[in-house]
Amino acid sequence: MNNEDPKRLYDISNLFLESDIDEAAIEEAIKQLLQAFGEDPGRVGLERTPGRVAQMYKELLAGYRTDPLAMVNDALFEVSYDEMVLVRDIEFYSLCEHHMLPFMGRAHVAYFPRGKVIGLSKIPRIVDLFSRRLQLQERMTRLIADFIEELLDPHGVAVVVEGLHLCAMMRGVQKHEARMTTSAMLGAFRTSIATRQEFLDNISRGASPMKF
Ligand code: ZN
Repeated sequence: MNNEDPKRLYDISNLFLESDIDEAAIEEAIKQLLQAFGEDPGRVGLERTPGRVAQMYKELLAGYRTDPLAMVNDALFEVSYDEMVLVRDIEFYSLCEHHMLPFMGRAHVAYFPRGKVIGLSKIPRIVDLFSRRLQLQERMTRLIADFIEELLDPHGVAVVVEGLHLCAMMRGVQKHEARMTTSAMLGAFRTSIATRQEFLDNISRGASPMKF
């Protein structure tokens, strides 16, 4: 990244840092939704549901309001290491923007450093930054790759995401269509078949099927 000009990093992150999530408006909307279902929002069991749902969305959508620079700044290191860095099986949970139902699964992230690396624990934080939003799996995959490219200026970035989509699983579509794999390959992972294959071999080695 250009530390002098983090603007593009913020642009990629597409944040709503200026305003808090409106919990009161969510509570009101959930009450109306319960009424629209034919329910009584005041009945035992539902009384506190609007408040719970508002708290839940605050947590599930936290990615819009996480400052990415504050998140990574203490974990960027200059190194001469130039072999592939790979973090696999990163668990993620997101909400599909078409139905607001969860999709979840695993992300695998790799890059070839060009003088700069990031602490390993920050890679799952970057996945959270983009998964804890209303999202499309395709876009999330691309954003994780773009963010790491901008942050580290590596020789290449690869991201593969395997997701299960509850909106497909719960709505009577064929179950096998509920599982989706998306990928983004930048730099060396795009131009070199051998590099891409090394990455793909690595993430398939010893992989166990996703269980939910
Ligand atoms: Zn959906």
